[in-house]
Amino acid sequence: MGKILSEPVLLKRLAGTIALQFTVYIVYGNSLVFLTFHLLNQYGLIELFQLDMVKLRRFLVLVQEDYHNQNPYHNAVHAADVTQAMHCYLREPKLAQSLTSFDILLGLLAAATHDLDHPGVNQPFLIKTNHYLAALYRNTSVLENHHWRSAVGLLRETELFSHLPVEDSLSIERQLGSLILATDISRQNEYLSRFRTHLDENDLCLGHASHRHFVLQMALKCADICNPCRPWELSKQWSEKVTEEFFHQGDIEKKHKLEISPLCDSEANTIASVQIGFMTYVVEPLFAEWARFSDTRLSQTMLGHLGLNKASWSALEPEASGSSEEGESEPGRATEEPSSRALSQGSQES
Ligand SMILES: [Zn+2]
Repeated sequence: MGKILSEPVLLKRLAGTIALQFTVYIVYGNSLVFLTFHLLNQYGLIELFQLDMVKLRRFLVLVQEDYHNQNPYHNAVHAADVTQAMHCYLREPKLAQSLTSFDILLGLLAAATHDLDHPGVNQPFLIKTNHYLAALYRNTSVLENHHWRSAVGLLRETELFSHLPVEDSLSIERQLGSLILATDISRQNEYLSRFRTHLDENDLCLGHASHRHFVLQMALKCADICNPCRPWELSKQWSEKVTEEFFHQGDIEKKHKLEISPLCDSEANTIASVQIGFMTYVVEPLFAEWARFSDTRLSQTMLGHLGLNKASWSALEPEASGSSEEGESEPGRATEEPSSRALSQGSQES
């Protein structure tokens, strides 16, 4: 997928192409607003869907502001990162030749909003602290439901799609939900086995809207957890950020004498051990199937980085490398039965 575009680079590329209304946001700290607008513009979606520039700007600014910048990982930069990755996957030949403009609009909006208002703690934490969101969503995909409903709230507040027929805007809201809910890593096996079955039977027909939607779900899942597939220097920084967020949750649990969640105890885990488990049981199985679906240079590069990054973490933590070797020797088993430890981590990292 290449490298993440830095804002100065984006600035250069956008010079002269971005609308006046957005120039005020061409400063550091507005990656999500800037990138999402740029992509919507580049795909011709603003013109095609006749999006009002003032409403769009307001929507994107509100989306960015609804992310918690104090979260080390689940903040607006993660959302921008996922949106950038999603764009790369949408450009893969198999998708690029099949997707409609509506699919691309949904894919980009889902990526930008997929962790909206993330509190920086995971679902088990919300459940054990009797958080109102856990009650509201009946302990099921609590965070993902909240991200989706928050996105819908902002769409309605800004009236971004109010010029479209009601059934179209309702369809956007519904499909946005279906995409965001797919990022619940505790349901990864469900999506992965369906993907694998389609690939085994070679029956994915991207002329069918439902099949395109399923592939978009898989693309968003990949975009969400692709950090281990990026070059080491980038990947390492994301790993440090996500582990900082886990350990922060563990510190809160310790302070309030709650049971410390798996992977959140800074005394019992290291960044390396957390990453090796996550890569082995969650990331590798997903990207192996993605590479079967889209066997391109990008997919092979991502798998290459993944292997190298795992080896780098193993070198830093030799005692944790046993789990790595086990995962490599029995990828099938690892895929069928990911440990609760890995799923627990994934539920936070997504
Ligand atoms: Zn995410």
